[in-house]
Amino acid sequence: MPQFPSGKSDFFSLAEANSADYWFEIRSMWKRCFLICGLLSLAALAGAQHFGKMSSIKETKIGLVVHGGAGTMERGKMTPEKEREYRGGIENALRAGWEILQRGGSSLDATEAAVRTFEDDPLFNAGKGSVFNAAGINEMDAAIMDGRTLKAGAVACVQHVKNPISLARLVMEKSPHIVMSAAGAEDFAKQHGVELVDANYFFTQDRWDALQKLKASEKAGGNGDKKFYLSDQDLHGTVGAVALDRNGNLAAATSTGGKTGKLSGRIGDTPIIGGGTYANNATCAVSGTGDGEFFIMSTATHDVSAMMEYGRKSLEEASVAVIKKIGKLGGTGGMIAIDKNGKIALPFNTSGMYRGYVDANGKFVTEIYR
Ligand code: ASP
Repeated sequence: MPQFPSGKSDFFSLAEANSADYWFEIRSMWKRCFLICGLLSLAALAGAQHFGKMSSIKETKIGLVVHGGAGTMERGKMTPEKEREYRGGIENALRAGWEILQRGGSSLDATEAAVRTFEDDPLFNAGKGSVFNAAGINEMDAAIMDGRTLKAGAVACVQHVKNPISLARLVMEKSPHIVMSAAGAEDFAKQHGVELVDANYFFTQDRWDALQKLKASEKAGGNGDKKFYLSDQDLHGTVGAVALDRNGNLAAATSTGGKTGKLSGRIGDTPIIGGGTYANNATCAVSGTGDGEFFIMSTATHDVSAMMEYGRKSLEEASVAVIKKIGKLGGTGGMIAIDKNGKIALPFNTSGMYRGYVDANGKFVTEIYR
């Protein structure tokens, strides 16, 4: 019971006391109301965040970009039939990778599968279609990198491995090393049951003819005679894939036969982690193609990631800046890149780059020229 103030009649005291009681009740009711509303909104907020997180896990974008080499590509010199074949090859690589990503597979599996289809296609300079070195031998390089763990595997100068990208993956997963080369890499391949083939498997007439032309041209003192004309496709090329999977993991994979007429034992940028291949979940996954030496000098693919990580650049800004830097040094080429949000970039400073990606509607897009 409230205490009545002294000097007042009971009636007034009682009336005052009743009204004081009444307002006291109203005030505490409001307080309770505010408290309950506050608690409810906090709970709603927490719930929304929880469901937001759940839905973002469910809705994590998947993405895939592939390339089949950059260089001087003139529409006039390409027959419609050849163009169809190149586009078909790019689509095959996209299909192989996309099927894996769509069913929830990893970006590592998707990039490896995409690159394997390129390696089996004689049109592209990797695996089966590799160019010849100065000694008339096919020496291949490949690398794969896992953006989640920053682990990587690479092989260089292998001569009998049907799919060098899969050997690179084994080096990452089953050896304590990152890069293995030549005979040692092939011994490791044997120990792990990797498919090895006779060197003849890599013979293609066009690549052989390109080497003969290059040699004849060098003999003639590189006099620019038209009969020695060699396109960029004859001289070099690389294949690659970058992907983002449902779990937000990025991966990059690259494979190449290198450059026609290269010296025996030459290693290009492809198996150099941060040169032609790089992936990091914090930023992006990148695969390069072009003058390998310039990509190594520029630590090209790592530079893209570093600009994003330390310089807060967007994927587009960073990749374009690196291709410009390579150009200033005198190099040509291009790269494909995908960031942790699924944004993609495909810059190049040549007249073309065989490339493809899966658009927002799941459609395969293939492009060749600028
Ligand atoms: N980057 C490759 C290499 O230098 C060649 C290319 O991509 O065209 O081995």
